[in-house]
Amino acid sequence: MTVYFSRLQEKCEYWGGDLEIVGKRTLEQLYLDAMHRTGGLGSYKIFSEGPLRGVALAWKDKRILITSLDVNPGRIVHEMGHCFLDLDGPENSDELSWLGWEISLAKEIGCYQEWDAQNSDYGLYFDDVPIWSGDWGELTDDAKSLLIENRMAEARRLGILDSMGRARPRR
Ligand SMILES: [Zn+2]
Repeated sequence: MTVYFSRLQEKCEYWGGDLEIVGKRTLEQLYLDAMHRTGGLGSYKIFSEGPLRGVALAWKDKRILITSLDVNPGRIVHEMGHCFLDLDGPENSDELSWLGWEISLAKEIGCYQEWDAQNSDYGLYFDDVPIWSGDWGELTDDAKSLLIENRMAEARRLGILDSMGRARPRR
């Protein structure tokens, strides 16, 4: 994932953020700091796999932290969505609205296959389009193509793709 890492890092920096590899202790410390803040994870979002295995996002500072290059680049693409698109913090995310942005970014970086595999158990629950309810990996190829088209249209509507269809930041 080294080649993806440097591309993703370059993109984060270009957008005014950062992607860093930190020691497990640093990540654990950030986790403890976050837990001690009032309301828990107000400015740091620490992801569910826990401080020793996970990817962490310091949303306020636009810093994405990983402890190893073994992390699937698809996870970083997803956290970049929280980092550069969620105007009110990741707690208030409408992440399915930017699925098309993720796909566009993964394709630009060249890690769409990894992103696709990483998302096999990603739950899709749309109020308005129940036909796609279920996990990403359960979709047939046709359903996936239609959903991608639908999400790209939504991303364009939201203005988070540029005129070339490439992902761009919103914050
Ligand atoms: Zn998320």
